[in-house]
Amino acid sequence: MGDFAPKFAQLNDDVLFGQVWSREEMLSLRDRSLVTVVALMAQGLVDSSFRYHLVTARQNGITRQEIAEVLTHSAFYAGWPKAWAAFRMAKEVWEEDAPAGEAKARHQREMLFPIGEPNDRFAPYFTGKSYLYPLSTSQVGVYNVTFEPGCRNNWHIHHAEQGGGQILICVAGRGYYQEWEKEARELHPGDVVNSPSGVKHWHGAAPDSWFSHLALEVPGQGCSNQWLEAVDETIYGKLG
Ligand code: MN
Repeated sequence: MGDFAPKFAQLNDDVLFGQVWSREEMLSLRDRSLVTVVALMAQGLVDSSFRYHLVTARQNGITRQEIAEVLTHSAFYAGWPKAWAAFRMAKEVWEEDAPAGEAKARHQREMLFPIGEPNDRFAPYFTGKSYLYPLSTSQVGVYNVTFEPGCRNNWHIHHAEQGGGQILICVAGRGYYQEWEKEARELHPGDVVNSPSGVKHWHGAAPDSWFSHLALEVPGQGCSNQWLEAVDETIYGKLG
């Protein structure tokens, strides 16, 4: 904008944001955000500038419950359809603050396979909460494993005298797979991991995302699982 309309850009930066928004002794940033969001919503604006002001309102401390109340109240004065449109965008902006139950339901809507039941049997070998849904228990075992944000399994080895190991097919969310002394690999839906027998590794969710993968048990002879230590927080904490 600076090249196209330098005066407009200068007024925007120096006067609007420099002189008006900064008068915190008169009205706090939080209050200014409230006024701005309602003023833009009342005009029916749901463009990128409206999204910018919603993000700013969230940064200025307006909670998920408060913005819902603000838009509900304004709807009677500004117009019902304008509130509908604003709600759609606000829901996205405050998405991260949704209660855990809603996040789980959203993850389920993104995924073809059921999340299943809490994975209690393997809980001693996991950090955080995981869920298990058996898709196939004959011929080749196929299980949908779901990890809540921050959840991962311990380092472990799928042992086999012949064959064996595991294939992971990522179906929803974002996660990681890491082999011992190697870089962690970030995983997205559609990614496939061939985890050979005898290799020490772990898999799980990213710190801020739900994650699900199908785990296929590759047939082999003399197969067994060895569970080892939890993934060190200093290693996991570096992953985004
Ligand atoms: Mn594994």
